[in-house]
Amino acid sequence: MNKYKEITEFADRRALFFPTAEIHSALSGFWDFGPMGAALRRKITELWRKEIVKKVDSVEIEGCVILPKQNFEASGHLKNFVDPLVQCKKCHKIFRADKLIETETGKEVPEAAGTKEFDGIIKKNNIKCPACGKELANVKKFNMMIGLSVGPVSKEYNAFLRPETCQNIFTSFQKIYKSSRVSLPLGISQIGKAFRNEISPRQTLVRLRELTQLETEIFFNPKKINEVEEWDRYKNHMLRLKLLKEKDTKSFSCEEAVKKKLVSGKLVAYYLAITQQFFEKCGFSPENFRFRELEDKAKAFYSKETWDFEVKSEVGWLELVANNYRTDYDLSSHQKVSGVDLSVVEDDEKFIPHVWEISMGLDRIFLYVLENSLATRDNKPIFKFPYYLNPLHVVVLPLVRKDGLDKKSREISELLKERFDVKYDEKSSIGKRYVIYDQFGVPLAVTVDYDTMKEDTVTLRDRDTQKQVRIKINKLPEAIEKFFSGEKIEKLGNIIK
Ligand SMILES: [Zn+2]
Repeated sequence: MNKYKEITEFADRRALFFPTAEIHSALSGFWDFGPMGAALRRKITELWRKEIVKKVDSVEIEGCVILPKQNFEASGHLKNFVDPLVQCKKCHKIFRADKLIETETGKEVPEAAGTKEFDGIIKKNNIKCPACGKELANVKKFNMMIGLSVGPVSKEYNAFLRPETCQNIFTSFQKIYKSSRVSLPLGISQIGKAFRNEISPRQTLVRLRELTQLETEIFFNPKKINEVEEWDRYKNHMLRLKLLKEKDTKSFSCEEAVKKKLVSGKLVAYYLAITQQFFEKCGFSPENFRFRELEDKAKAFYSKETWDFEVKSEVGWLELVANNYRTDYDLSSHQKVSGVDLSVVEDDEKFIPHVWEISMGLDRIFLYVLENSLATRDNKPIFKFPYYLNPLHVVVLPLVRKDGLDKKSREISELLKERFDVKYDEKSSIGKRYVIYDQFGVPLAVTVDYDTMKEDTVTLRDRDTQKQVRIKINKLPEAIEKFFSGEKIEKLGNIIK
């Protein structure tokens, strides 16, 4: 069975993630996350805060998901955030023109290509409706934003669900810059929901209608694109780059990337290194990831330079992060439509800052963390998460649910909660509980048995080796710390034969 199928089946069986409002025959492209799924997402988010937000000295904000129409006039989304669609004249089925051409001819056409170009290719290759074989109508552009009419009066769309979280960052930049005692380069981050009216949501969390983004926009003076305070610490960091003109991915140090002019400047190399480091901490291997340089036609409409961070996954190369050099596009266009001056004055110079964007999709990262952590034991899937991402560190299990074993287990669970992520479970047989938590990726199990009641000891079980040691309760927190710093289980107590 392929990993992707295994993950989706496991996810459904153990409620990691499942269709939203499933009991009402859900709309496609919307997913809810169960307790373990939500816990893993929190861990990814915590790591993002630690590895990206803190490292680039970014501030974090929380903005609304509904934004006024004017916002999207300014941002260009009303005009440019469109997908090319083609409809069959006979059966009226609708297809993404770029995807259809790719399936039929094997050729990639950027989704940003013009409708005439699409029509030309469809005609030249004599592409017909894949469903009924009849003729296709002309290609049309469909706006992917979900429109709303806010308030009792409006009959037209006067607002939209934001298609990217960064819009709040651009509109509040001036306020934050002036009020928060910060200077350039200034990072502003936000985690939140974004919405895209996908024609055909597919592959579970790969193409969604409601998604979660972890975005950081860094505002800087374009004249200082080669001034990076931390440069000495990062200049030798090796970046995995898939250049436009090269077939294979190659490693370049940040310094080389700048010298060879592969990137616009030191700031860009530095932010790419920070981004790559985050994924190294997620346990991803360098041979399975790359920054892919995008050609002009494939880039988003606001970007001057784009490096998609991609991983080699079950479903092919999968984009997890768009790294975009948005220049002054956003601030300039918001300034133009709003009439509010969004420039700054630094070193006696007045200018509109440029923006480097690190735009991550939490849902895809979550899915790939599952894929990358999936192992098999006795033909059953088990997850082995890297330390930083473990949703649960320890599970506490009473051998039976009586004679005070359950009460004692709850006490131990409380003791451990101060330092670790812990779950208490008294349901079903001990063997079955071991199997379930092994699958969930919980590295350690504490078992409370009748000896616990006599001598204040418990057993500590290592999920991977399935070895168990007997250990005093008051030594338990320290032993668990040691285990997570790499100590072998047999060094932590008396091994049980
Ligand atoms: Zn048809």
